[in-house]
Amino acid sequence: AGTVLAARLALKHGIACNAAGGSHHARRAQGAGFCTFNDVAVASLVLLAEGAVENILVVDLDVHQGDGTADILKDEPRAFTFSMHGERNYPARKIASDVDIALPDGTGDAAYLDRLGAILPELCAGRRWDIVFYNAGVDVHAEDRLGRLTLTDNGLRSREELVISYFRKAGIPLCGVIGGGYSSDVPALAARHAILFEVAAAYADARQATSCSSQS
Ligand SMILES: [Zn+2]
Repeated sequence: AGTVLAARLALKHGIACNAAGGSHHARRAQGAGFCTFNDVAVASLVLLAEGAVENILVVDLDVHQGDGTADILKDEPRAFTFSMHGERNYPARKIASDVDIALPDGTGDAAYLDRLGAILPELCAGRRWDIVFYNAGVDVHAEDRLGRLTLTDNGLRSREELVISYFRKAGIPLCGVIGGGYSSDVPALAARHAILFEVAAAYADARQATSCSSQS
C-alpha cells in the first residue's frame, strides 16, 4: 500500500518515495529473499489496471538482481524492467529482466556511475515512460554485510543525484523505494537510506514538498 500510494503521489507531484518497499524477490505465489510482497510489481499492475499509466520503467539498483519483479512482469509489455546488480550475489539463478547489467565484485564508485550514466539514456531512447519505479537499495555500499560492491557514501549520493535528476529533468514521474541494506550499525544504515530522501527533496517542486509515505 505504501508503494501504491507513493506511485499515485509521484504521478500527481512528480516525485514521491516510500520509506519502505523494494521487496523485489517476492513472486506472485510466494515470498523469497527476505521479501513477502513485491510492492513495485503490485503497484505497477495497479496503475495499469486503473489506466493511470501505459508505460512503466523499473530501475532496480539494489545490489541483488530483481528476479521477482522480472518474473511477475515478464508477460506485461507495458512494464519494462532494468536491474543493475552484483553478478556473484543472490539470487544464484537470476530471472532475466528486460535489461540486466551484472557487475563484478569490488565495482566502486567510478565504474558503477559510468555504467549507470551510460544506460539511462538508452533506457529512455525508444519509449516515453509515464512513471519510473526506482529501487534505491543501499546494499551496494562497501560496508554492507551482503553486498559485494564497494560504493562509498559519496558514491551513493552521486547515484541518487544521477537517477533522480535524469528522470526529473525529462519530466518523468519517479516513485522511489528503499530496497535492501544490511548493517549491524543501524544509525549508519538509516543515514544511507536517508540519502534517497535528501536528494529527492531537492528535486521536488518548490511549491510541493516531497511526498513521503510509510508502510507498516
Ligand atoms: Zn538487496
